[in-house]
Amino acid sequence: MKRVHNFSAGPAALPLEVLEQAQSELLNYKNAGASIMEMSHRGKEYVEVDAQARERLSNILGLGDKFEVLFLQGGASTQFMQIPYNFLSEGETADYLNTGAWSNKAIKEAKLFGNVNEVFSSKESNFNRVPKLGEGSFTKDAKYVHYTSNNTIFGTQFAQEPETNGVPLICDASSDFLSRPIDIDKYDIIYAGAQKNVGPAGVTIVIIRKEFLEKANKENIPTILNYKTHVGTMFNTPPAYAVYMVNLVLEWIEKKGGLSYFEKFNTEKAALVYNEIDKDDFYTGTAEVASRSNMNIVFRLATEELEAEFLAKAATFNLSGLKGHRSVGGIRASIYNACPQESVEALVKFMQEFKAEKA
Ligand SMILES: *Cc1c(COP(=O)(O)O)cnc(C)c1O
Repeated sequence: MKRVHNFSAGPAALPLEVLEQAQSELLNYKNAGASIMEMSHRGKEYVEVDAQARERLSNILGLGDKFEVLFLQGGASTQFMQIPYNFLSEGETADYLNTGAWSNKAIKEAKLFGNVNEVFSSKESNFNRVPKLGEGSFTKDAKYVHYTSNNTIFGTQFAQEPETNGVPLICDASSDFLSRPIDIDKYDIIYAGAQKNVGPAGVTIVIIRKEFLEKANKENIPTILNYKTHVGTMFNTPPAYAVYMVNLVLEWIEKKGGLSYFEKFNTEKAALVYNEIDKDDFYTGTAEVASRSNMNIVFRLATEELEAEFLAKAATFNLSGLKGHRSVGGIRASIYNACPQESVEALVKFMQEFKAEKA
């Protein structure tokens, strides 16, 4: 059996070691005679998995006792609605930084609940950049600022958190969660669908500052959409197998050396591809250099025909998942934590050979 060099944007590659461990435990989890997916979520096996995943997240991110960790369903897309449902009322304003398709969808949902002030947008340049630090000013009494730390489709990424001068900060980190150290003190909510960088689809990790959660006092929120419902208890059946897989990925992250290891690893991998893009005009990066993402690398070739040929030929070299999103076109290489160095080297070698053949 061969495994491809997997550049899928999401669901994305998982660490081979993690898949192998899951495989080895599939039929008989810790001698219980059943898989972890076939057991009660209130039994000791799953309760232990759940607690371990929380503890690992807390250690990796340095959460201390200031945050609640929730394992929710409905994807990051449900958070686009759940956040304003809990924190934004009619007549109130929330600030949104619009850096692409996902921020746009978050804005659309927030408008159902209150006023949205779009304090930054790079729409006119087809979202080829994120704001510089200090660019755009925030509404004085905004309930919160929402931004997308990594723009999966357009291949841009914030180098650091926006400076909000005291306005609570909410981040959709779906496509760069746990890819580098962050300053957790700056966040009030950070959330991520697991399927890009930390596990399979099915669980959304939502980390909420306790103090901020106290400010959520809207009434008439459906029970399951009220964040407070999920604090300290399993309100309903959690996505147990997805959480189990996330727990294995977290263990793998810890063993590798934590977030500083991955920051270095991811930066070096991305540099290999960007260096190849920047050599001459054969490949053209779509994002402004200062806004480039270390997770999703988006580039074009001279014509769409050439791009189609690039993709077809790449597939014959075992390079998979490279087609760009339809709103940008071209090529997108997603190289999250679990994408090994060898895969990136194989891609760069292919880029060199393809260019040499066409030049
Ligand atoms: C993939 C993605 C989403 C959507 O996630 P779902 O889990 O499919 O709802 C939201 N935001 C970002 C930044 C993403 O990359």
